[in-house]
Amino acid sequence: MDDSSPEVTTALEAILMASRLCQKVREDLTEGASIQKSDRTPVTIADYGSQAIICKLLKDTFPNDLVVGEENSTELRKPDRSNLLAQVTRYVGDFYPSASSDEVCAWIDLSSHSVRNRFWTLDPIDGTKGFLRGDQYAIALALIENGVVQLGLMACPNLYVSKNQLDGKKGCIFLALRGRGTFQMDLEGKASQPLYVSKVAVPEKASFTESVEPDHADHITHLKLAQKLGITQPPLKMDSQAKYGIVARGEATLYLRVPSPSEPGYKEKIWDHAAGAIITEEAGGTVTDLDGKPLDFSCGIKLEKNRGILASNGILHGVVLKALEM
Ligand code: AMP
Ligand code: MG
Repeated sequence: MDDSSPEVTTALEAILMASRLCQKVREDLTEGASIQKSDRTPVTIADYGSQAIICKLLKDTFPNDLVVGEENSTELRKPDRSNLLAQVTRYVGDFYPSASSDEVCAWIDLSSHSVRNRFWTLDPIDGTKGFLRGDQYAIALALIENGVVQLGLMACPNLYVSKNQLDGKKGCIFLALRGRGTFQMDLEGKASQPLYVSKVAVPEKASFTESVEPDHADHITHLKLAQKLGITQPPLKMDSQAKYGIVARGEATLYLRVPSPSEPGYKEKIWDHAAGAIITEEAGGTVTDLDGKPLDFSCGIKLEKNRGILASNGILHGVVLKALEM
């Protein structure tokens, strides 16, 4: 597979369209009612719309491939949800004007929850809470073959282009191909730049990123670990797999995800990590679980054989794993 393979061009086209749909839903939200008052409806519209578009495009080109996406249309088809379905159909209609509500539901349901040797996995909106807050969210798509991610794409419409331009332009696409590196593009899929992890080699100079939500990771253990390693910089809290992108472009040295005490046995979902993991790895980083085991994407919709996540610049991976043995 290379840049011009149909897998890459189709996945990129799909993620660009889905990203435009999500941005439109978000813009309409800001123009309308205050974000505080809004329920989860906007994110639901964007989730369903994003999944419908991406599944349709993938299946048009690869009819025999499986897509393992987070959503299905069961809820959307209920009679009391007709208003929501009409809105999803309207947003999808910006791209496919003749799409009926039935077709939109059928496109969403092109996804299933069983895996094969080769399949795609999709989080149509990762970081739901970030989307609603106006913070970070991502549309994440990956191709997995024999349990290993081969291609990963992530659209982060609200992410600054570089930490040196915090008030500047927003919106990035990350694309990683196994053995060929990680690239960042603008939201049109242009201006591609290679990304590299940080070269920080001593823990005292490292920085880390973690979830905003305390229910998604154990922030107290992260802090203890940071103290043990002599990390003095405060954590960069960020929603979604954008965290992997931040490590990939060297703006954080580590992404820590120790299971939250509220759900210590939590098994991570494949669509929450597949695209992000290859994006960090192909920029020169390392991604394993907290026991140093590679992430195994062959077990179904969850990373059943893994516990938590550690993504790093590679150089510090061993030191952090050792410190985790506390
Ligand atoms: P983040 O934005 O990094 O906080 O991660 C968002 C993702 O966390 C969502 O897509 C959920 O699938 C996932 N999630 C939900 N509950 C948990 C949990 N208890 N521990 C870890 N991740 C979770
Ligand atoms: Mg998610």
